[in-house]
Amino acid sequence: MIKQCRKCKRVLSDKDFHKDAKSPDGLRPVCKRCAIAAATESKRRVKAKSHGLVDVYYDIIKRCCDPSSKSYQRYGGRGITMCDEWLHDRQAFFSWCMANGYAPGLQIDRIDNDKGYSPDNCRFVTPAENQHNTSQTALSEKAVNIIRGNNISRRKTQKQLAEELGVSQSRISAVCRNKTWKDRK
Ligand SMILES: [Zn+2]
Repeated sequence: MIKQCRKCKRVLSDKDFHKDAKSPDGLRPVCKRCAIAAATESKRRVKAKSHGLVDVYYDIIKRCCDPSSKSYQRYGGRGITMCDEWLHDRQAFFSWCMANGYAPGLQIDRIDNDKGYSPDNCRFVTPAENQHNTSQTALSEKAVNIIRGNNISRRKTQKQLAEELGVSQSRISAVCRNKTWKDRK
């Protein structure tokens, strides 16, 4: 069987068309080459329109949902998730970002470090602000006690503890050196 591509007008064999059960002749109206080009172009357009948010979006999902991700333990591993609305609708996430101050170069930040990615817990900050927030986030008293206890028992390395508590290793070490948490009597 031969068929003409509606797009490029080349006359080709049926092998040059993707199958389409919904079409009368069982084939897509455009040839494979045109179909692939259209898909690539549409992906490129989504990416351009999202101003880099496609990467932001999938980075979050990776951290929260993919146990093979390096950051999973500090996110998904301790219950940090992405809200259903965003998880099921990429466009809803993009729209929220554009309406809430996103600009290329800014980073998404969770206001409450123990809560997930959702419209009420996210904002955009500069990388410098993000760094500052990370170092300022208050450690819970419980976390400090765990760090102190371990500093005596030495059952875990600081690295293991950092991953477990979802904080940087330098903060653990600061607590051990009594820099950030003074003993309260
Ligand atoms: Zn074609």
